[in-house]
Amino acid sequence: MSSFDGWLALAERYDSPYFDTRPGPAPDDITLLVVHNISLPAGQFGGPHVSDLFTGRIDYNADPSFADLRGLKVSSHFFIRRDGRVIQYVSANDRAWHAGVSQFCGRDKCNDFAIGVELEGSDFVPFEAAQYGALAALTVALRRHYPLTDVQGHEHIAPGRKTDPGPLFDWDYYQKLLNQKALEEPALVGAIAGLRVVKGVPQSQ
Ligand SMILES: [Zn+2]
Repeated sequence: MSSFDGWLALAERYDSPYFDTRPGPAPDDITLLVVHNISLPAGQFGGPHVSDLFTGRIDYNADPSFADLRGLKVSSHFFIRRDGRVIQYVSANDRAWHAGVSQFCGRDKCNDFAIGVELEGSDFVPFEAAQYGALAALTVALRRHYPLTDVQGHEHIAPGRKTDPGPLFDWDYYQKLLNQKALEEPALVGAIAGLRVVKGVPQSQ
C-alpha cells in the first residue's frame, strides 16, 4: 500500500503543476471521493480545454467565456471523458485543487483528504454509460490503495456554492455498477459494500 505512487494504470497520465502535499498522512487520511462535472466551453464536449485548464495551458482566447478563468489554478486527480477514457493529472497521494471551500462531516478543506473525479458533462445533459462504467472501475481501483469510506458530489460538500455533478447524475446506477465491479474482485467486496455513497438529494451538514 505505502509503495503505491498514486498513479493508476487504467488512466492516461497528463501531469498538472497544480497540486501540493496533503497535510495528513497518505494513504491513511484519504477517505473521500468527490464527483464533479465540467465542460469547456460549458456544455461542449470533446475539446482540449479542460485538460488545458487543469495543466495551466489553457488558451484564454479560445472562447469568450474563458476570460472568467484567468488566474484560476485548479486541477483534479481524474477526468472521465464522454467515451469513458480516464485521464489523470495529479497523483492521488498528492492534494489536487478541485473542491475549494467545502466541508464533509464537520471537517473542512475537503481537498486535504479527498480524491477528485471530474466527469466531462454538465448539470443539464445525462452522463454516458461509459462514464459510469469508468467511474465504477476507478472507484474500485482506488479502493485497492486508499481507505475510502464515502463518495460525495461537489454539490454535497459545497452546498449553495456548487451544483455538480447535478440532478442528472444517477447515484443509484453508479452504486449498482460499483457493487457489480466489486464482485470481480472478491477481496474488495466488503470494502465496496461498506462505501457510503451519497444520494442525489443535497444533505444538510
Ligand atoms: Zn466541482
